[in-house]
Amino acid sequence: MDHWTIWPISVGTIGHVEKSNLTFGRNQGEKIDICSLMYLLRGGQDLILVDTGMSDPDWATKYHHPSTRHPSQEPVEALARLGVSPEQISIVICTHLHWDHCFNNSLFKKARIIVQREEIQYALFPLPIHALYYEAFSLGMTPPWLNDIARFEIIDRDREIVPGISVIKLPSHTPGFQGVNVETRKGNYLIGSDFCPLFENWKGKDKEPIPSGIHVNLSDYYESFKKVDGFAEVILPGHDMKVLEQSCYPGTI
Ligand SMILES: [Zn+2]
Repeated sequence: MDHWTIWPISVGTIGHVEKSNLTFGRNQGEKIDICSLMYLLRGGQDLILVDTGMSDPDWATKYHHPSTRHPSQEPVEALARLGVSPEQISIVICTHLHWDHCFNNSLFKKARIIVQREEIQYALFPLPIHALYYEAFSLGMTPPWLNDIARFEIIDRDREIVPGISVIKLPSHTPGFQGVNVETRKGNYLIGSDFCPLFENWKGKDKEPIPSGIHVNLSDYYESFKKVDGFAEVILPGHDMKVLEQSCYPGTI
């Protein structure tokens, strides 16, 4: 069986984010800086990216939050430091279609892009409160994922993508959200992305989890927490700077 490794890559910093948007019902009024992430998965025949990160910082600052990107955080540059070119990425998995998770899909022209059907449906017609996260048509914008829809592989529910890598549907932060389970030599690591945007959203079995402040249906969210309780050893977050303290998971290669 393949044992995979997971490499978090920051493609910029999103500043001054209301923390209660990440931790529902807690930390109101507190502003924090968060990272925009791609996760590179290595271990099998394929090189896989989970999410492709946010737009350039000017766009992000104009429409979302004050944002910065060091030249070394340009997605192509950041991947090159890990010895990977965009053409080598054969699979992109979008956990969801918010602007800060799929903006760079177009860079990976050889990749098939795996998305849940329900996520596409919601991204086309989101509730008004969620429209900007999708840069939705209802705001007169063009959703950033649309350019590459011809390469979408649309799936329903859970699916093994390649041996050792599965997507797990987790209705939570968005209705068609999917986490990515990665079999490592230390057990199952779940890339939780915005299901658990910070490490503090999920502290393991028997501890009360904290939903993201951005969600549609809280009952579904708690069902999804129950679903991961059984198997994930670790949940890697969508935006927590602390994840960058380690270059690779699990630990020493
Ligand atoms: Zn999101």
